[in-house]
Amino acid sequence: MKLFESASSSALESTYAKHVNAQWVRVLDLLQMNETYARCEGAELFTAGGRRILDFLSGYCVHNIGHNHPRVVAALKDELDRRGPAMLQSHAPEAAGELAARLCAKAGGRLTNAYFGSSGSEGIETVIKFARAHTGRTGILHADGSFHGLTCGALSLMGDPFWRDGFGPLLPDTARVPFGNIDALAVRLSSRRFGAFVVEPIQAESGISVPDRGYLRTAQALCRRYGTLFVLDEVQTGLHRTGPFLAAHHFGLEPDMVVLAKALSGGLVPSGAVLLSKEIYESVYSSLSRAFVHTSTYSENGLAMRAGLATLDVLEDERLGERAAAVGEYLRTSLRERLAGFEMVREVRGLGLLSGIEFQAPRQFWRRASFESLDRIHSGVFGQMLVMRLYRQEDVLSQICGSNFMVLKVAPPLVVSDAQVEQFVGAVSRVVEQMHSSMAFWTEALTLVHRLVNI
Ligand code: PLP
Repeated sequence: MKLFESASSSALESTYAKHVNAQWVRVLDLLQMNETYARCEGAELFTAGGRRILDFLSGYCVHNIGHNHPRVVAALKDELDRRGPAMLQSHAPEAAGELAARLCAKAGGRLTNAYFGSSGSEGIETVIKFARAHTGRTGILHADGSFHGLTCGALSLMGDPFWRDGFGPLLPDTARVPFGNIDALAVRLSSRRFGAFVVEPIQAESGISVPDRGYLRTAQALCRRYGTLFVLDEVQTGLHRTGPFLAAHHFGLEPDMVVLAKALSGGLVPSGAVLLSKEIYESVYSSLSRAFVHTSTYSENGLAMRAGLATLDVLEDERLGERAAAVGEYLRTSLRERLAGFEMVREVRGLGLLSGIEFQAPRQFWRRASFESLDRIHSGVFGQMLVMRLYRQEDVLSQICGSNFMVLKVAPPLVVSDAQVEQFVGAVSRVVEQMHSSMAFWTEALTLVHRLVNI
């Protein structure tokens, strides 16, 4: 049963299914989310069938400045029209210098240089190599619950077996400490085996985990004491997602390296950057013969650089950092007010426009019995029911966190309007109300599970 299907979308789907990823199409079909999008603008997605969907996922924090921002689109067209050098691999692109200078100035602290790549994972691969080159140590430390990307090096810094299983052996010499636990970190660091501690300042996929105020400051100090580089993965939290340019700025941190990607190029061109200190740069690119010892074909490409510069202009001119801070507070306050008293809502938390609504198992008998039957089959079904209802019934696109299925991620584009925030709060409240009062929510969930099991 598909509620919103059009002939053109099924034709596209079958080509996609045949030649790209049929399992993904089946998942989308099952969740009744397999839509054809005609146009996307700001925080809204318009389907071929005429639906208007509010985007509260932002492609996992890609669309900070909104979909298809006209200034980034214009910058890209201009770059193509001027027919300048692209991929010569034999010149020093000025736009890359300009973007690096602006990113480092905004990040501050000891960050003076940038290495550009095309994704967050590539940034993590880069910091692993640079940390080894700079410190001469092979060990890399990371935190439980982290998400750093799915290339082999990045995956080696993640603990979740869902992502790791079947792809080993991964990098040796990596170790994991509980996120937020200073004592465990101190013990590991004191071995002086680790070149870097790589950590997200706010863990997004583990459930929007905001650490205690002092944790990251103390972690940084310990890293300095034991000669380990303090590296922040700001792939989701950077570019004003949480208010300031970097989440590091909430905590007064001065990391040795920062990884950026996702929102860096306005959501239109693959792009990523590692910001690093002069000392680290000099350890890697240490002589003429090592001038290109770490690089990549599409690094510093003109489209990504121009998109990056235009994205920074938009973030600055539209004061989107201030907007993220103010709207984020308002959003969480409204959600807390509207969701108070529902036994399955545990907490609303976050910073800026990176928030999560954490749910918990119900106590009330009939709800608990249904919840437990779902949970026994797959711990993600309850969350997907929520996502599906929001999408189908309320025209809101959202998702649960990748490794904490009880947390609904709330991350709209930073350009989201007050009216759109109110629409979202109303939508979530209605679905939460149904989950507490209507048997239909649970019977639908059980039907979904049976379809899943039969696949
Ligand atoms: N780091 C974080 C915190 C992420 O959320 C992601 C992707 O979701 C990555 C790194 C990897 O980025 P990419 O998918 O661009 O390789």
